[in-house]
Amino acid sequence: MNFIQTRGCDKNTPLSVTFSQAILSPIASFGGLYVPENLPDLGREFLNKHVNSSYKDLAFDLLNRFEIDIDSYVIKEALDLYDKFDNSENPVPVVKVKENLYISELYHGPTRAFKDMALQPFGVVLSSIAQKKGEHYLILAATSGDTGPAALETFKNRSNVQVACLYPDGGTSDVQRLQMVTEDAKNLKVIGINGVFDDAQNALKRLLASEEFKKALKEKNILLSAANSVNFGRIIFQIIYHIHSYLELVRQKAITMGEKVYLNVPSGNFGNALGAYYAWKMGLPVEKIIISSNENNVLTKLIKTGKYDLRDLHVVSTTSPAMDILKSSNIERVLYDMFGYKRTRELMQNLEEKNFYELTSDELAQLQESFDADFCTGDEGKVYIKKTFQKNGYLMDPHTATCMKSYETCSDPKIKTIAYSTAEWTKFSPVIANALTGEVDAQDIKALASISNEAKLEIPSMIKELFSKEIVQKTVIEKEDIEKEILKFL
Ligand SMILES: *Cc1c(COP(=O)(O)O)cnc(C)c1O
Repeated sequence: MNFIQTRGCDKNTPLSVTFSQAILSPIASFGGLYVPENLPDLGREFLNKHVNSSYKDLAFDLLNRFEIDIDSYVIKEALDLYDKFDNSENPVPVVKVKENLYISELYHGPTRAFKDMALQPFGVVLSSIAQKKGEHYLILAATSGDTGPAALETFKNRSNVQVACLYPDGGTSDVQRLQMVTEDAKNLKVIGINGVFDDAQNALKRLLASEEFKKALKEKNILLSAANSVNFGRIIFQIIYHIHSYLELVRQKAITMGEKVYLNVPSGNFGNALGAYYAWKMGLPVEKIIISSNENNVLTKLIKTGKYDLRDLHVVSTTSPAMDILKSSNIERVLYDMFGYKRTRELMQNLEEKNFYELTSDELAQLQESFDADFCTGDEGKVYIKKTFQKNGYLMDPHTATCMKSYETCSDPKIKTIAYSTAEWTKFSPVIANALTGEVDAQDIKALASISNEAKLEIPSMIKELFSKEIVQKTVIEKEDIEKEILKFL
């Protein structure tokens, strides 16, 4: 299958490209994104056939339906990385929290957040394409805390790729920082910046667009790429677990095959939710997709009013930092799917030029047929964390907690909900410790201990070990020096 462009084709790029091309150069004409020409129709047979499949068998068959230009043995090798998850038989457990509410846990991978779901297999795929083409890539990543560790973990010691990962020094949790600065491999460089996440992100965007930087890389025989969440190579792996979670409910006899469910997704850049939308379009029985946000609630407003309005808006720091995003990039793929490339180009141009766009009432009605949304503040989230733990014995992180509010305000309680948990409690422990015990400003190490004690949960070994590991990545620099530092590393 080939991939086409959300804003149409400017004739400088081919009308359609292969999967490999779409993932190596993810930015399409007019600043758009690549989307599959059409989504495979799975039909009920596919679901019936896979009721008792393992995660990997389901994933393999699903990826086959996309007919991508990746050899089967590479896909198998990529999917084998799910064996490293807590339970290799079932990398994504789905747990009943209360009547009609189930949580699909996407955080059982090596870095304890949902980014592993896609980045783990993506690392194998990207490295294999680079090897096959005999090319060497520099992967740039900017992180507020979850993408960085997951990207380093997946590309560590892989052939033909090097990674430079930028993070705001002091802007991540201790666990997130340690996950990065203790990574010891020749092909990885971790760079702390004196600044905030936006500084890291802007530096990344500047370098990706800089002809001068690309020329300097070319002299070293290196090409530039990014592993950000608009890359279709990540999205494709984020369709699988929605289907798996549905089949889990069938296996648990919580639903019968064909019964519709809500999918409730804590959202930032909309990659997870887009995977849900594609799964639905491919034949998964879904009632509606519910988009949960924190105080950065542009998506709630878009889905409620049809207006995407960034005028006078600034990102606010919340207790769910991985969702502190205002330009939610993957929503563009939904616009394209619903309204076509001309309208998508027009809307996205408005957003870029005027920081604003507005859907027509017909368009809004169409959007609302698929999506509903609400947002949850940090304080509300903490109440949900405490209440759900006390009443239902289930401990969730602040990102997952945003789903609890929209579960109450957006769904019909007679219909079952699959909500997605995107991080383990170990990754955002100070907020959770505060919610459970009231203690304030605890360092991660202390917060982990008090949660472990309060909730009788073991701290997983890969988190415990972080605190005694040697710090090997010691670079912390001013943002002006990033380019020089990366070239020195190469
Ligand atoms: C990345 C992330 C999200 C947001 O996912 P999107 O696909 O960007 O919407 C939510 N929670 C956690 C913990 C994350 O790391």
